[in-house]
Amino acid sequence: MDNSLSLRNFPTVIAGPCSIESPDQLHTIVKELSTDNRIKMIRCGVWKPRTRPGGFEGLGEPALHWIDKEKKENPSLRFCCEVGRPEHVELCLLHNIDAVWLGARTTVNPFLVGEIAEAMKGSGLKVMVKNPITPDVELWIGAIERLIHNNISDIAAVHRGFSTFNNLGYRNNPLWEIPIELKRRIPELPLYCDPSHIAGRRELIAPVSQMALDLNFDGLMIECHPDPDKALTDSQQQITPTELIKTLNLLTIRQRGDDTSGDIQRLRDNLDVIDVEILKLLSQRMMLSQEIGKIKKHHNLTTYQPQRWREVLEKQISEGVKLGLDENFVKELTEKIHAESLRMQE
Ligand code: PEP
Ligand code: MN
Repeated sequence: MDNSLSLRNFPTVIAGPCSIESPDQLHTIVKELSTDNRIKMIRCGVWKPRTRPGGFEGLGEPALHWIDKEKKENPSLRFCCEVGRPEHVELCLLHNIDAVWLGARTTVNPFLVGEIAEAMKGSGLKVMVKNPITPDVELWIGAIERLIHNNISDIAAVHRGFSTFNNLGYRNNPLWEIPIELKRRIPELPLYCDPSHIAGRRELIAPVSQMALDLNFDGLMIECHPDPDKALTDSQQQITPTELIKTLNLLTIRQRGDDTSGDIQRLRDNLDVIDVEILKLLSQRMMLSQEIGKIKKHHNLTTYQPQRWREVLEKQISEGVKLGLDENFVKELTEKIHAESLRMQE
């Protein structure tokens, strides 16, 4: 592809350490990342929300002074960190931090988001809102609305995956349909992906980043540390600046916008026909299931039959795999259909 085109279309890249650990660590990473003009902003955690107590919780205000110093040496770079309380916002404003983000454990709490939004009122800060830990698009939209209601206009969303019953080998299950739904509901909102927290391990960062770009995301936030194995937080998922640059070089930048020319349109027409067929078959299946439900009631049997469910699931997975479908996909789809079937029988 023409190089100028790929640079023009290059997603916004935000990179930097999970946590600031010392002035030297910050200086080293900033120096290395500033050599690549695709990296527009440095992320660097100052307050770290830890799931369990006892871990490294960030260095707090002193780290903001070190950011100030780096900013003076690198005027074209912008810096962002996470805020979890109104006091954090006040300190970030005092130290001229360019942007902040709400972490997944904050977005989930409407009271806290409201207080943080109030503290930002009229500040002109750029605010990135990570998805809540739970796969709930309404909660994500609610946090964004609370910011908008406080006159914050420079907002972006960051997809960092969700805690689910089965995370499918990721640290946080990407459930791509949720950010896609967010973008459908708020098309003008820039949407970034945080492949580091989705992946949880280095080798998955590149494929998750590529997936995000293929899904039309506007940017990437990637954790990057001068010596990842020694990092005080999230060491498994941080990569070195050299690895980051290699990852960025290998990304395929797609053309944005749609192509409704002949071939795609013909295939999409076929998809539309198949989609309606799938719905018709599902509707027939639910009707049969309701009849079974009536018989169960008549014989005073429980709706859920564990042995039957085990057999159905096994059979579907084995048939699906023979047909070239992904095992996890078939499992999730069958679970959804079964849950709806049980609901219909009630
Ligand atoms: C982070 O970005 O380091 C972080 C704690 O993120 P999240 O809220 O996505 O867990
Ligand atoms: Mn992290």
